[in-house]
Amino acid sequence: MKDMQTFDETFGQAMAEAEESVRRGDDQEASLLHGPLVELVDQLILRAVDERATDIHIEPEEAVVRVRFRIDSILQPGPMIPKPLQAAVVARLKMMAGMNLAEVRQPQSGRIRFDSKGRQFLLRVDTCLGVHGEGVVLCRPFVGRAAPVALEELDLPAEGLAAFVRAIGKPRGLVLVTSPGGQGKSATAYAALAKLSTADVSLATVEERAEWPVNFVQHHETGRHADRSGLLRAVLRQDPDFIFVDALDDPETAKLALRAAETGHLVIAGMTAQSALSAVRRLLALADDPLLVSEALVAATCQRLARRTCAKCRTIALAPEDRREELERFASAHGISWVGQVAETQGCPACRFRGTHGRLPLFEIFEAAPEAQELILRNRIGPELDRLARAQGMRTMYEDGLRRVLARELTLKELARFFPLERFIPPAA
Ligand SMILES: [Zn+2]
Repeated sequence: MKDMQTFDETFGQAMAEAEESVRRGDDQEASLLHGPLVELVDQLILRAVDERATDIHIEPEEAVVRVRFRIDSILQPGPMIPKPLQAAVVARLKMMAGMNLAEVRQPQSGRIRFDSKGRQFLLRVDTCLGVHGEGVVLCRPFVGRAAPVALEELDLPAEGLAAFVRAIGKPRGLVLVTSPGGQGKSATAYAALAKLSTADVSLATVEERAEWPVNFVQHHETGRHADRSGLLRAVLRQDPDFIFVDALDDPETAKLALRAAETGHLVIAGMTAQSALSAVRRLLALADDPLLVSEALVAATCQRLARRTCAKCRTIALAPEDRREELERFASAHGISWVGQVAETQGCPACRFRGTHGRLPLFEIFEAAPEAQELILRNRIGPELDRLARAQGMRTMYEDGLRRVLARELTLKELARFFPLERFIPPAA
């Protein structure tokens, strides 16, 4: 709490001085380079970093500029910036991100590399003109660090991680890395790229915007409106060993990626999807070529980011009556010894009374074994594919969540936020 007060004082002082400078009509160009405005914007970013925010929203309103931080998936109110400072704050951020200050109407994208006390951070910056002026959103793709997290540090379930490492270790084929928006698929894909990139292989990417340069990787950016399949075609002519495509969302790109995978490249591709099997179905719908999909697809992952129970204020309680039987069934099916207890949270100063601290992935991976390839080939990708995947031991995101509940890392309430109706049913023998 003491740090917060220090922050509020420093921030308040910088804000008062910046306001005074605007009122005096100081040289705007000079004030963007040094002085209270620079300090104010630095303090704002540092506060977001200290609060472990994944993104910062700077939202002009009629009378004030609202700042909000997204912390553990939820938007929280941050400081208010007085309206007279709006233009200067936005201009400073645009300058830091290397944007064109004179351009206001067109949305712009950029990056800020920010150093603080020897720590380096990356922020992705987007501007967009609203009714009350230019809004800015800053995202931190690798929270708390300057580079992708190692695959082993993502906290994936052990069997899921082993299956994923197996999939990206194949010499050829397509590996889909999916999640709903903002649920960590980029971090997982980038961790895979970092693992694959060594001095003796060539790895090329096609992405709207390179999140972070990885050593030995040739990044190619499509930008906001460019043609992904055209760029992928150009990259394929250079014949890299590994290819990463950030999103398969049009038939042309999907077919190109599949053909590259079939002809001897390992392709990792992102996709927005609700589950690993729904990603497979979407791929089939996009490519409209069951033979190609069955031959090229190696695996598909999906994940959600749940809020981890705060270890400082966690209490242990008996599982509610209506869930106990299900949890017991799950524990015995997985050989976990469980004494009927789950975590609950109260909230404490350490978690700012939210009851959660940080996020953890709920992960699943579908591996296209020969029987599954057969079903894909015959376009039997509905309940039959679901049953087969379960019979072959695929653990769903919901089941990964149940494991976390038994380990008391996750509350039942948080799990129900993602899967309100799901219940564990053991796979048919
Ligand atoms: Zn707490």
